[in-house]
Amino acid sequence: MISAAPFWPGDRLPRFAPNGGTALSGFTRPLARLIDQFERLPGIGPRTAQRLALHLLRQPEEQIQAFADALLAARSQVGECQRCFHLSAEPLCDLCRQEERRNGQICVVADSRDLLAMERTREYHGAYHVLGGLISPMDGVGPELLKIQPLVRRVDQEGIEEVILALTPSVEGDTTSLYLARLLKPFTSVSRIAYGLPMGGELEYADQVTLARALEGRRPVE
Ligand SMILES: [Zn+2]
Repeated sequence: MISAAPFWPGDRLPRFAPNGGTALSGFTRPLARLIDQFERLPGIGPRTAQRLALHLLRQPEEQIQAFADALLAARSQVGECQRCFHLSAEPLCDLCRQEERRNGQICVVADSRDLLAMERTREYHGAYHVLGGLISPMDGVGPELLKIQPLVRRVDQEGIEEVILALTPSVEGDTTSLYLARLLKPFTSVSRIAYGLPMGGELEYADQVTLARALEGRRPVE
């Protein structure tokens, strides 16, 4: 029976061994396994992993079950929107189902995180297209591995007047932008957000104001 009381007096976690000890020494095996799972997540260090694992251990069993159910359901039900390739549990995502977003604009992003960053600005009201990455010959990612052909089809079929490239200012972002501009300019106008974003800066981490300005200050790709 798991009690709701703190595991250690004053709720202090045991310190790591100062030299040579592993982060998991002193933990009973099932707990070590749980901490190990958290440590595999991006941005989670050993201390945070311990804190999360110990926090979960103190929750009622129904809460743990709900957490596990949510994980498995998300994994099994979330796929890609058939039109824009944003994460979606339905054939068409929430954004693609909004008729008013079919305004002749498509904002092209590398992945769903960047789409969500653009949405947080509340300044963009058109449709999106998620490429699934950026062209990177060094990593063996050529245009054929990205959702570029479906984008060309959409520009043609949806009467798109402006394609806004919201790709990171990096070698890969520049390469992809130039490739897309060359491909699409015969059919539509192509602009790219740029203003205020530092070279190599991740869209996802740009604050809302910076990103909104970058969108407002977009320029045609030459
Ligand atoms: Zn969609």
